[in-house]
Amino acid sequence: MSDAAGADNGLDLYVIAQRQFDRALSWIDELKSGLIDYLVTPKRTVHVRFPIHMDDDSVRTFHGFRVLHNSSRGPGKGGIRYHPDVTEHEVAALAALMTWKTALADLPFGGAKGGVVCNPKELSRAELRRITRRFVIELGDAIGPHTDIPAPDVYTNEQTMAWIYDTFDVFHRGQNNRAVVTGKPLRLGGSLGRDSATGRGCLNATERFLEHRIVDGLDSLAGARVAIQGLGNVGAHSMKLFHEAGATIVCVSDSQGGVADDAGLDPREVLAHKAEHGSVVGLPETKTITNEDLLACDCDILIPAALECQVRKDNAADVKARLVVEAANAPVTPEADELLQQRGIVVLPDIVANGGGVVVSYFEWVQNLENQQWPLDEVERKLKSKMEASVDAMVARWQVIREKADREDGSPPTLRDAALVEAITRLSEHILQLDICM
Ligand code: NAD
Repeated sequence: MSDAAGADNGLDLYVIAQRQFDRALSWIDELKSGLIDYLVTPKRTVHVRFPIHMDDDSVRTFHGFRVLHNSSRGPGKGGIRYHPDVTEHEVAALAALMTWKTALADLPFGGAKGGVVCNPKELSRAELRRITRRFVIELGDAIGPHTDIPAPDVYTNEQTMAWIYDTFDVFHRGQNNRAVVTGKPLRLGGSLGRDSATGRGCLNATERFLEHRIVDGLDSLAGARVAIQGLGNVGAHSMKLFHEAGATIVCVSDSQGGVADDAGLDPREVLAHKAEHGSVVGLPETKTITNEDLLACDCDILIPAALECQVRKDNAADVKARLVVEAANAPVTPEADELLQQRGIVVLPDIVANGGGVVVSYFEWVQNLENQQWPLDEVERKLKSKMEASVDAMVARWQVIREKADREDGSPPTLRDAALVEAITRLSEHILQLDICM
């Protein structure tokens, strides 16, 4: 989680999101300056405070918020995180990222995010249930199937989504309310393929991107050496899927450290060891490494799939990969972006690389509204097509602004610049066509 200390050392997510936005604006000529304020600041932030009866008979007051960054293209979409350090600032930055991600994937959604300041590790299931239900009651109609649709995020899961759905349903009887939240259990209207969606989308995006031959000497995953930081939902699925696609997984890590094997790790053995011992560290016949070693390891593709701000100005010079695929949100800071670019290392940005989760959330929402359940192969086929379209749109935009930079002797754009320019352009054109600036 970003915090006050983070703000001082350039690792504050809100500041990072603003810097990325400002950089992208320099490539957009026509954007009406008045629209910039509208695009950069949240449309609405709801704060709620509520008391909860704890298991030990005490009462504690909790603080939660929901930020709707933009809803011009459709209802807000974004996760709810439970964390002791979550701040409105951080949630606002993540909500903005969701706006750009949904615009780039061409989904009829805006961006949103929410949080409750609490430590789930110290709360019982019954306390979490009461917190969730009360939070939803306090949010009232700030969320809804056509207003703002939450999903899981850090320390919330499909059970949390089931409680959200049920609580909302109690207050909106007689309607089909399943579409109020995504990431639900399958039996309650969840989508097949949601669990692996972000990892699978990451694979689809990387494969398509390599076909564009922008990374020197790397045009497919066959034999590519891949390092993955983080083995949660996104990292574990990415590891299995990249391996199946022909890549060699040379190192992986979790919060306790990592393991490396030049000859390639077997994902089944890695996950079995982690399930049994709580960490990948100690997997037989592998070398134990630190997370810093992993970021600096000799590989073709580095996939940070854990936390924000992992590649920074102090360690960007150590990265040896040719391509960094941002499976996590904001794992590369703006300073590191510049250093990597100077060294010819390409970054496939988060708003493209990890968009698979929100794409399949959108599929879940559509299935809920239509009272349908799509087969897995249909979900995966549609996901691939959406991810490929996002990559193609980013690359097409990159080529246009790169030519412009060449003509004007300007500094070359990154793929992140291109992805943001494409998303901001789509959204601003949408707003201007709606003619809402009365
Ligand atoms: P998760 O909680 O399931 O997994 C996080 C993993 O990171 C765990 O394996 C943990 O051990 C590891 N980790 C924690 N600290 C670490 C450290 N210092 N070094 C190395 N590993 C560390 O989370 P997730 O759902 O896989 O999400 C990972 C990232 O992807 C986050 O940035 C999240 O915002 C982003 N993301 C997730 C989704 C999704 O659908 N789950 C969608 C888009 C983006």
